[in-house]
Amino acid sequence: MKVGVDREYGLVVIQGDLIAPVSDVVGVPSTERDPLRWLLEHPDRDALLDQAGKAKADLPLVVERLAPPIARPPKIIAAPVNYLDHKVEMKEQSTIADYGVFLKAPTSVIGPGGVIELPYLDKRIDQEGELAVIIGRSGRNIPRESAFDYIFGYCCLLDISMRSTEDRSTRKSFDTFTPIGPWVTTRDEISDVGALDLVCSVNDSVRQNVSTADLIYDVPLLVAYASSVMTLEVGDIIATGTPAGVGSLNDGDRVRVHIDGLGALEVGVSAAAATLYSSRPGWAPAVEPA
Ligand code: MN
Repeated sequence: MKVGVDREYGLVVIQGDLIAPVSDVVGVPSTERDPLRWLLEHPDRDALLDQAGKAKADLPLVVERLAPPIARPPKIIAAPVNYLDHKVEMKEQSTIADYGVFLKAPTSVIGPGGVIELPYLDKRIDQEGELAVIIGRSGRNIPRESAFDYIFGYCCLLDISMRSTEDRSTRKSFDTFTPIGPWVTTRDEISDVGALDLVCSVNDSVRQNVSTADLIYDVPLLVAYASSVMTLEVGDIIATGTPAGVGSLNDGDRVRVHIDGLGALEVGVSAAAATLYSSRPGWAPAVEPA
């Protein structure tokens, strides 16, 4: 099943070029702003998903109208240096095996058709196209062999990253720095998550093209490792890492990630609110002693 959030209809099931609104079918409260997370946390989740899956799709899919499938994940766990070719391009000596995982702010999420807002005029900010895992069941110390039992589904993700001296959690947590979508494809639809082609383009020129077969920590190992550190909760997102081909983004760019079976996520880039790096709060030039 492909399930997303439409700004007009709420929770929707996507079938080809058509959608079935299912918020009423599963009883999402009208005030709920994160309907898929609400559904995933519902005690009758499986039965409600089953009902949603039977709804007839008869309205046109308008991808630009989709909101992020999960608006406020409990947390976003991300993998640094999880492809060898990216390790080489970044001149990294280490991989995820040494770095572990890092966290991105849940407030950095935007959806398809959203706009990445560049914070500074004079800092390089890169696209990182990635496969995202959506956690469907809470767990700690999850064995690699049962990792898939804890996965609800997958989507495309961009881990937007400033190249600078700050900690990863700062450089990658600006508002708008985690586009996700366009919808979530449930785990049962993806026969082998370890053999998906990922293509990331900026303004129609391909920057990244990889198979998830090249992941250093594959999806089950990431779930096992991350859950050995912290409890995974329903709605958590794991960004699995990016391959070679990261590059800088500029005002007016269009960024697109396509992954087999997961659709294409496309967002814009704007520098309209960008300031000089030296104007950030707390920064002060070094003062020469008298
Ligand atoms: Mn990344």
